[in-house]
Amino acid sequence: MAKKEELECSFCARKKPETNLLIAGLDAHICDRCIEQAHGIVLEEITDTKAEGLSGELILKKPQEIKAFLDEYIIGQHQAKKVMAVAVYNHYKRLLQKPSSKEDDIEIEKSNIMLVGETGTGKTLLARTIARMLNVPFAIVDATVLTEAGYVGEDVETILTRLLQAADYNTQKAEKGIVFIDEIDKIARKSDNPSITRDVSGEGVQQALLKLLEGTVVNVPPKGGRKHPDQKFVEVNTRNILFIAGGAFDGIDRVISKRLNMQAVGYSASKNEERVDEDNLLQYIVPKDLKDFGLIPEIIGRLPVLTYMNPLDAGTLRAILTEPRNAIMKQYDKLFEMDDIKFDIDEKALNYIVEKAVEYKLGARGLRSLCEAILTDAMFELPGSDEKVLKVTKKYAQGKLTKSTLSKLKAVS
Ligand code: ADP
Repeated sequence: MAKKEELECSFCARKKPETNLLIAGLDAHICDRCIEQAHGIVLEEITDTKAEGLSGELILKKPQEIKAFLDEYIIGQHQAKKVMAVAVYNHYKRLLQKPSSKEDDIEIEKSNIMLVGETGTGKTLLARTIARMLNVPFAIVDATVLTEAGYVGEDVETILTRLLQAADYNTQKAEKGIVFIDEIDKIARKSDNPSITRDVSGEGVQQALLKLLEGTVVNVPPKGGRKHPDQKFVEVNTRNILFIAGGAFDGIDRVISKRLNMQAVGYSASKNEERVDEDNLLQYIVPKDLKDFGLIPEIIGRLPVLTYMNPLDAGTLRAILTEPRNAIMKQYDKLFEMDDIKFDIDEKALNYIVEKAVEYKLGARGLRSLCEAILTDAMFELPGSDEKVLKVTKKYAQGKLTKSTLSKLKAVS
């Protein structure tokens, strides 16, 4: 029949004999070439939308999902993770708030975060993991290098230079980023006497930080510093940038303890009162303690979400070695595996590493240095040799560590 010979692709009009395959639909036909082309278009579209999801739109998870994500990377610190999850959720909800919804006049305020905890307890890790989850630019700055404009050091605007760099100079992206200000406690006023204000790295810097934390448009030198006076400034609005400040606040436990004791006077008769955990006073921290430590009230007000990190005990250190998604031990596994070497470390050796980290008061950061000291010889000698297995026992670890400089460390009392 003549009709059959007329079959053609409804998209490109190629006749059936000109195609390898012609597929019939309800009321149309499509040839193999058009299918391939269409497939290409579908793939392109999908990648485009995905990329938009990553760079343009924020992928916002619910607080419990955020916490679950953090759990994969950070051991313990449940309270801090919970508080952070809520703060981050609220912060990005605020970001998604339509500016047009004027009728209710409710403006959600920023939820910048203050993280208080000893060094090495995971403050930076927490901030970094949040940024990674949200896929937003992340910058770490050290508050100790900041000074008031006109003094030797860095102006507070350079904080945003780092963020711009992390965002590949995409201002829009940077404006949704996260900045971690480390060692915020080091810009506390050194003395309680407010008349001593010519304190270059203290109160002046706190004042300079205020506007930034709250939200303002800042002229940022894209190359940073004062070495490039000719550079064109970039305007960055900090309104939607989430600031997380962290600090060890050495000695704040005394402030907390004093306050708790004062509160206790007159209340001690109450039987229901919970016993104070003297070993971890940070858990009772309130904003006033930060003020008594030397932060100005305005700064405290602009970092309204206050939470703390627990000190790391031996159990937590042991878990940090093997449990997080990119745990130190998993990293060594991978490194050796790349040379076809099976890395086999036993329980006693792991406990020995933890014991030493506790003894030297090195915290979680020390775990890595200890492992390096123990494994460097093997990492030097094994690749390229015939050995295909590295067995690390407590004895092996002890032997390597006694030879290393770390063993010269005296246990700090
Ligand atoms: P901080 O900022 O509080 O000084 P960091 O976040 O830099 O501490 O932590 C130092 C290292 O210790 C991190 O890179 C991480 O490997 C490890 N670490 C610390 N605390 C934890 C934790 N709770 N869970 C997993 N790893 C941790």
